[in-house]
Amino acid sequence: MQCERCHQNIAAGEQHEHLGQVLCEECYMDVLSPAKSCDPWAVHSAKTFEKEHGGQVDLTEIQQQILDILKTSGAIRPEELAARLQIRPNDLQRELATLRHMEKTRGELRNGKTYVILW
Ligand SMILES: [Zn+2]
Repeated sequence: MQCERCHQNIAAGEQHEHLGQVLCEECYMDVLSPAKSCDPWAVHSAKTFEKEHGGQVDLTEIQQQILDILKTSGAIRPEELAARLQIRPNDLQRELATLRHMEKTRGELRNGKTYVILW
């Protein structure tokens, strides 16, 4: 059985149903509480994600901008990144979750604060 969101294989009995979709534990938690996706350590299935998409990774314009900023600034606080992109923190978190799945960016704790860095 496969998660319909991240296409990760789900062990029998560990699937969750949400709005008619079969989801793995992590995606299920994700849809139930969007804040969960802020967890920079919750990385899974990125390899599967790329395989599912034939190794082709299509970045949206905003995702490309995030990568460009990270390339020039190195580590950056999510708040600052959102401010630079002029998008809401919630929207940024969604973009970062996608980039994390693609192994483009990840979160790193420095002095107890979360920074976004290149993978
Ligand atoms: Zn999933």
